[in-house]
Amino acid sequence: MKKERNILLDEAFGSVSDPRRRAVLMLSAAGLAGVALKPGPATAEKVRSQAHIVVVGAGAGGLAAASRLSSLLDGAKITLIDARKRHLYQPGFTLVGAGVKQKEYVISETAEYIPAGVEWLETRVAEIDPDGNKVVTETGQSIAYDFLVVAAGLQLEYSLIEGMDESLIGKEGIGSIYHSPEGAQATWQAMSAFADKGGRGIFLRPATEMKCAGAPLKYTFLTDDHLVRRGNRGKAEIVYNANNKVLFSVPIVSEKVRMLFRERGIRVNYERVLQSIDPGRRIATFRTPDGTEEQDYDFIHVIPPMRAPDAVRNSPLRWQDGAWADEGWMEVDKGTLRHARYPNVFGVGDIAGVPKGKTAASVKWQVPVAVEHLVADIAGKTSDALYEGYTSCPLITRLGRAMLVEFDYENNLVPSFPGVIAPLEELWVSWVMKTMALKPTYISMLRGRA
Ligand SMILES: Cc1cc2nc3c(=O)[nH]c(=O)nc-3n(C[C@H](O)[C@H](O)[C@H](O)COP(=O)(O)OP(=O)(O)OC[C@H]3O[C@@H](n4cnc5c(N)ncnc54)[C@H](O)[C@@H]3O)c2cc1C
Repeated sequence: MKKERNILLDEAFGSVSDPRRRAVLMLSAAGLAGVALKPGPATAEKVRSQAHIVVVGAGAGGLAAASRLSSLLDGAKITLIDARKRHLYQPGFTLVGAGVKQKEYVISETAEYIPAGVEWLETRVAEIDPDGNKVVTETGQSIAYDFLVVAAGLQLEYSLIEGMDESLIGKEGIGSIYHSPEGAQATWQAMSAFADKGGRGIFLRPATEMKCAGAPLKYTFLTDDHLVRRGNRGKAEIVYNANNKVLFSVPIVSEKVRMLFRERGIRVNYERVLQSIDPGRRIATFRTPDGTEEQDYDFIHVIPPMRAPDAVRNSPLRWQDGAWADEGWMEVDKGTLRHARYPNVFGVGDIAGVPKGKTAASVKWQVPVAVEHLVADIAGKTSDALYEGYTSCPLITRLGRAMLVEFDYENNLVPSFPGVIAPLEELWVSWVMKTMALKPTYISMLRGRA
């Protein structure tokens, strides 16, 4: 096991020539996202099958699932459906938005990661019919399946903020690192202009479920640090608007962030949800428990509401009631990622209606579990593979420092290197993980090797 793990690490970091730097990266990668890199499925004996498996979405979860399935199955037909030609390494958007990386760092080609033998349909799924075991594409093609893996991510809903429009990103003091590589780069320009002058910076997060709930906090810390480095912190006010009564869903992390914000003079408002924006007057209006509140700004980092893509939200796969029904997340079992009502359907990644996750780190641990159950079904066996909610957030607290926060469904901190990397300490090694080690490990995950 240890030998296999080292081979995987060698594969990810083979091109780094300085042995000391390589050692740090390898340690970091092993720690990344609790990675403790598991051997990929290539070594396992293949299961023969004629099944047709459709995978919806070729992002982090869809590619990882297709890669694992193709290595585990012999003879099965695997169809991956996604119109997106560019693969976007989204965890890098924060770094682009902070001026640490160029946008090219996060862009590659989806085609690079499609495993041999997997059919890629470059279109979108318009309709999912789990009662009829078929999906219908936007081009009108009906595709029957034996098993379905949904990895369609989530949809950013800028239009739910009155006055906001994606084309405003980078203009009128408006930033949003979530939108795209181009949006993240434009956000860097807007944030940098703010850091040059000072003024009032407004930060926030939406009231919906969201991907990487640490990113709004990271971007607040990074803006503060740029102001400090340019000697303009005294000319600036930074305000963070939390959507509810906490800063992060894990209480101990929330408290740590609250203390760091206080130390750095970042003012916090609780229970503020962005409702509308007036770019001309540079005023943001927030919903509060007591009505609305206007906040003027020189720079605002807008993070939009998020919900399931229409094809899932409008399908029977969504939760039927409860907290996740309106936003349309998939009703899957939180331990197996199997759909609660359609046992031949699995949901992985951001689309999964589970209590924690919506990170690439969760994808890393969810996909092998879902795939193991699917392959066990094909083989006529059962699997006891269980996803316990592992997720991680390299919470950047300034340039060159981060806290590697790893936790599970129960809010337990589950550090990969207890005693070596303390989760609530601002460490250089955790920054290295975020800026250098995460991406190679992520790419290995897409290829089904991590
Ligand atoms: C700013 C930012 C910072 C982040 N930081 C981190 C971090 O530090 N660490 C971390 O682990 N994670 C981080 N993440 C989160 C991480 O990137 C996502 O959780 C991860 O990409 C989820 O994978 P996914 O496969 O569910 O979705 P995605 O990777 O988004 O892929 C979804 C795919 O589905 C496709 N799709 C959508 N609808 C359809 C349809 N109808 N038919 C066919 N295809 C469809 C899309 O085109 C897309 O290719 C960050 C994300 C952002 C935006």
